Amino acid sequence: MNPIKHTTSKGNGLSSKEDSCKIPTETELQKLVDRLCQHYFNYPFDGTVQWSKRLSRTAGRCDVNFKNGQLLKAKIILSLAYYQNYGLEELENIIKHELAHYHLFRTTGSKHRHNSTAFKNLLTYLGAPRYAKPLTSPDPKANSTCKNKPIYVYVCPTCGHRYPRRRRIKGSCSICDKKYNPKHLLVLV
Ligand SMILES: [Zn+2]
Ligand SMILES: [Zn+2]
Repeated sequence: MNPIKHTTSKGNGLSSKEDSCKIPTETELQKLVDRLCQHYFNYPFDGTVQWSKRLSRTAGRCDVNFKNGQLLKAKIILSLAYYQNYGLEELENIIKHELAHYHLFRTTGSKHRHNSTAFKNLLTYLGAPRYAKPLTSPDPKANSTCKNKPIYVYVCPTCGHRYPRRRRIKGSCSICDKKYNPKHLLVLV
């Protein structure tokens, strides 16, 4: 058995890639939606944003509650699976699509179909797709930034150094001992 090579955060770029593959929290999602809404429509997004693990046939959804032609509540639900397949850039396109629904609800007080002229014009303005990419045939290029995504994280019980790895490994911490040393055996967390 070998000691596990210690890698610095800069050394192999693992940490930065790890960060880019981190799933945004719902708070981060909310900020992203708000930023896009401000950018394209000049007003904040007055609603909630959620991830959905179950949403797999569509990339996103915009739910609204209405009363007397007034928008009461809006909720954008985004498919986590879609994000994991296509990445952040594609997710932004979906958010823009959902914002198009939201904007039309808000400004006209009614639901617009995907083939309505108003909806299509808005999508052109936003540069958003009318339909999401299929989830069954992921674009391999979209995932390229996540190739090095660590799956297993090992920790040295002595010094606490973390070793993210894509495969299961057995070994000891190379910081605590350059040679294999069972005293510093890495533990999967
Ligand atoms: Zn739609
Ligand atoms: Zn150690």
